[in-house]
Amino acid sequence: MNKPTLGIIGGGQLGSLLADAAKKIDIQTVILSDDPDAPGKHFATKFIFGQYDDDTTIKNFINEVDLVTYEFENIPFKILKKINKKKKVLPNPEINKLIQHRETEKNFLNENNITTTKYVTVRNQKDLSENVNLLPGLLKTTTLGYDGKGQYKLNTLDDVTDEIDFTKEYILEKFIHLKKEISVVITRYNQNNYEIYDPIENVHEEQILKYSTIPSDIPDNIRTQSIEWAKQVVEKLDYIGTLCVEFFIDEDDNLYANEIAPRVHNSGHLTMNSHNISQFENHVRAVCGLEKIETKKIFNAKMINLIGDDITPYRNKTFNDNEFFYDYLKTEIKNKRKMGHITIIKK
Ligand code: ADP
Ligand code: MG
Repeated sequence: MNKPTLGIIGGGQLGSLLADAAKKIDIQTVILSDDPDAPGKHFATKFIFGQYDDDTTIKNFINEVDLVTYEFENIPFKILKKINKKKKVLPNPEINKLIQHRETEKNFLNENNITTTKYVTVRNQKDLSENVNLLPGLLKTTTLGYDGKGQYKLNTLDDVTDEIDFTKEYILEKFIHLKKEISVVITRYNQNNYEIYDPIENVHEEQILKYSTIPSDIPDNIRTQSIEWAKQVVEKLDYIGTLCVEFFIDEDDNLYANEIAPRVHNSGHLTMNSHNISQFENHVRAVCGLEKIETKKIFNAKMINLIGDDITPYRNKTFNDNEFFYDYLKTEIKNKRKMGHITIIKK
């Protein structure tokens, strides 16, 4: 079989690392990005710059590829659907539609008996006043939020400021006293056929992921339950590719699913160095219909995200042979921007 050329929508670090993984298994990639300086241009076989809603751009992109995947979930459903009519898009655009909205995402989890925090949809001040039982809580925009963007902590109704724009839709979520956060990264190839990475323990700073570690220090029942829920999610969605479920563990060891990322995930970056097959390679293999290779852990590992200025000293550092530094080659350092990461393996 001739290997397909894989189109990737989005040229940030996730698209770049996907392209890099593809290259290693001789899969050519075409990255489409609306940023002419996106890091993806350094990693893809071919790079196309253009707007996602521009017909000519999309046509050019489609002509270059055999199938399409994407690195982020905030691509308008209409565009993915349009592409899907010409070239197969995996994961299926319908899945993306369900998950890119925090309310339908959480409804889906609850319909499948997967526990989440308590939540309610909020469209105005009155909805808030009627749900004070969910305070202290987090008010989150239902769409387009990431890395804590579009989130407001409300201890009481007095914390509602003019900054909150009620022309947007929100969910109010009960605030959980977190003991730990974990994530399960899973790649589904087809029915009941997947590779699962053991739960990864995550530490966030200012709502942005800072550290990911394996193995996670969690009780066995939480390990089993989180893996079981992740399997249920991919089966129910008939998902193809890599997906991540983020979980909260509260002080009483209750487990809650927080959100689903229908894509490779920052917490899975350590798999590039800890496992024989990374989350990126598994994703490329699954969507391209290549053979599944049994995924095994080789090393324990810790990943540190380099955010904003954190990256500067690392650019001139010499590394030990158990340290792996990744520079996303973004043109500009910005506060709170993920610039790179380092993974330290424990031999
Ligand atoms: P994003 O889409 O920005 O990743 P999340 O819902 O995952 O949004 O929130 C980012 C982080 O904020 C979480 O990983 C967690 O650390 C914190 N957080 C979010 N929701 C809650 C909550 N209900 N209770 C406590 N902490 C929360
Ligand atoms: Mg999150």
